Amino acid sequence: MRIFHLSAECYPVAKVGGLADVVGALPKYQRLAGLDPAVVMPYYDRKFTRENVFDTVFQSATLLGTRRLYFEILKERTDKLGFELYLVKIPGLIDRENIYCYPDETEQFIAFQLAFLDWINYSQQSPDIIHCHDHHSGLVPFLLQYSKLYTRLAKTPTVFTLHNGQYHGAFGWDKLSYLPEIDLTKTGLLDWSGGINPLASAVRCASKYTTVSPSYLEELAVSANGLEYLFFLERSRGIGIINGIDTEVWNPATDPMIAEKYTSPKIAEWKQKNKEVLCTHFNLEPQKPLISFIGRLVFEKGADMLAGAIERSLVEYEGKVNFLILGAGDPDTEESLQELKEKFPKDCNVYIGYNEELAHLVYAGADFLLMPSRVEPCGLNQLYALRYGTLPLVRSTGGLKDTVIDFGDKGGYGIRFNNTSVEDIDYAITRAIVLFEDAKKLQTLRKRMMALDFSWHISAKQYMDLYKSLNPTTI
Ligand code: ADP
Repeated sequence: MRIFHLSAECYPVAKVGGLADVVGALPKYQRLAGLDPAVVMPYYDRKFTRENVFDTVFQSATLLGTRRLYFEILKERTDKLGFELYLVKIPGLIDRENIYCYPDETEQFIAFQLAFLDWINYSQQSPDIIHCHDHHSGLVPFLLQYSKLYTRLAKTPTVFTLHNGQYHGAFGWDKLSYLPEIDLTKTGLLDWSGGINPLASAVRCASKYTTVSPSYLEELAVSANGLEYLFFLERSRGIGIINGIDTEVWNPATDPMIAEKYTSPKIAEWKQKNKEVLCTHFNLEPQKPLISFIGRLVFEKGADMLAGAIERSLVEYEGKVNFLILGAGDPDTEESLQELKEKFPKDCNVYIGYNEELAHLVYAGADFLLMPSRVEPCGLNQLYALRYGTLPLVRSTGGLKDTVIDFGDKGGYGIRFNNTSVEDIDYAITRAIVLFEDAKKLQTLRKRMMALDFSWHISAKQYMDLYKSLNPTTI
């Protein structure tokens, strides 16, 4: 079964968040399961693309309105990621360093999708499934069915996976001419609130759409940045499939990015060694409980609450707890965290920026991971934390609700709270501090969480069943 995954991110080529982790791992497991997956993504001028060898497998030109854009399809020569990787390169438009936030982002992602479709159309490829990820490839299901250019491919089943419903990629109808000739009686399938909305279009036009957790599928009908009614209407066409984690990359026994690998069954000793390296580097006290946060410093993640909640705990439990924050994002949140660090230099440290290696060490060395997310489609951080014996403190939402059971409940191993508020976060921190003093209980919980299986095997099978249901003739 030949599958094309279309995505703006893929680890380790280019990563901003969880989308990259999923697209870098799922195809690997699909290949192991006997499928034939390939990832297609835009070309970025980054370390991975500079340091690896690519062959040009196709060259042509596509039309973006009146602009004729020459493009190349580059294939990574050795399939070193465990699947075929193709990059769409368009000189002057898709050949830059960053993934997002260019003023001509709309043009970039439309051109990416057109180049992909032109390539598979003109090179006579007939994939069994086209799997689109997030709004960056959200126009593909519509174009396949309603543009004359791609009639040959019109029956190809499509899956659209929504990793984040907050971002829609919407643009004005004045840019309709960027699309090739389409059936104008179908333009309603592109529209939401008077604009072209790739996310809404994908949800309506894909053969099936999936969300990255079952709870998130339910929540979208009440919170989707303006698309709530769409998700209410389309609910029955959606499926929630929880993300897995790449257990080769996230393996405490072999992880080259942590200070001490997990080889003996003595979890506490192993964690303490990593914690000591981390605390020494960040000028923190390794005997105290260490509570960390890793992630984008944005409203969705509840990052604006961190400074207030941490300050309250630091005042309340003077000298009894440490905090370490790793993240980047909203400038006001970054500033409030820097101020907190200056106010409590012995108990709190902050690293503003993106640092993959440091993230691994934090998962290994921290005792607790705080995730006060307002929205969490799946959340991978809590899954990495569990694998590294770090107890997650999570707001009960989306994928956090689906993957973390409170340790007060039967079989539980985490701490859950209901609201992204200073009070609820503070209470969760209080429970963590009390738990830290009970070494035996903590050991039991760490053992329990490290034995959990969030590998891709289960979720990859669910995607495979979905593909088969859409294309039963191919196995
Ligand atoms: P999202 O995709 O919404 O940002 P996820 O929990 O799905 O959230 O995935 C976040 C991923 O990005 C995890 O792999 C996490 O470790 C990583 N990450 C986020 N921020 C940073 C950072 N500042 N430095 C290193 N890794 C980060």
